[in-house]
Amino acid sequence: MFDPISKTILDQIKKASEEEKGAEAEKLRASTYWVLCPSCGKRVAKRQILAEGCWACGWKGTEEELELAKAKRASGQESKAAAESYKTRCPQCGRLVITKELGEKGCYICGWKG
Ligand SMILES: [Zn+2]
Ligand SMILES: [Zn+2]
Repeated sequence: MFDPISKTILDQIKKASEEEKGAEAEKLRASTYWVLCPSCGKRVAKRQILAEGCWACGWKGTEEELELAKAKRASGQESKAAAESYKTRCPQCGRLVITKELGEKGCYICGWKG
């Protein structure tokens, strides 16, 4: 038996995790419904691109090709994000400089130091 207080807490936890599950399921549904065209990058309904091809560029392929393109894009985005955190834009001159150097020595172009 639970006392009323801990039961309320448990209910809240249960409710929160159910809401989370709902959001996850919603995300999953959205991600399986829409795909990005491997050729032009436009958002297309997966069912449509498999059946009729991309509405924008006409690309047509199998589900495997779509997955392959998605995986490729994901790995590309990761390395891009890593490169961006390595470099940063100087607030004064706007040039791309190495984050660490900007912090330590300042911008090598304009001399800005934060
Ligand atoms: Zn396309
Ligand atoms: Zn600068």
